[in-house]
Amino acid sequence: MPQLLDKTIEILSVKHLRGHNMWTYHPVIEVWLDIGELEDFPSNLIPGFYDRLVKALPSLQKHRCSYGEAGGFLKRVEEGTWPAHILEHLTLELQNLAPASLATLVKRVTVIVVAFTKSW
Ligand SMILES: [Zn+2]
Repeated sequence: MPQLLDKTIEILSVKHLRGHNMWTYHPVIEVWLDIGELEDFPSNLIPGFYDRLVKALPSLQKHRCSYGEAGGFLKRVEEGTWPAHILEHLTLELQNLAPASLATLVKRVTVIVVAFTKSW
């Protein structure tokens, strides 16, 4: 998998948008990412990605994405989905897993991840 090792995700900006904004009426953290050439690497083309993801965050099993049932998101990962979609679920799950001591801080914040590639 050497062709994947030189791929990067570039964080272009991280902003706290207070009050109403283009995404919602609530304050959000807006993150702009350039996924670069990873756009060409859906999850099913990355050897071992599914197994490593499930091992790292088994609670992703609860995500009902696409199929409307638990495991839906992971089924999408197995079938092949793009980095932006995976980042969306990772962000949500990491917020869900935040310890109770951070719950009022972290779980009430909406994070908007805008992932794209400059080559579009
Ligand atoms: Zn999803």
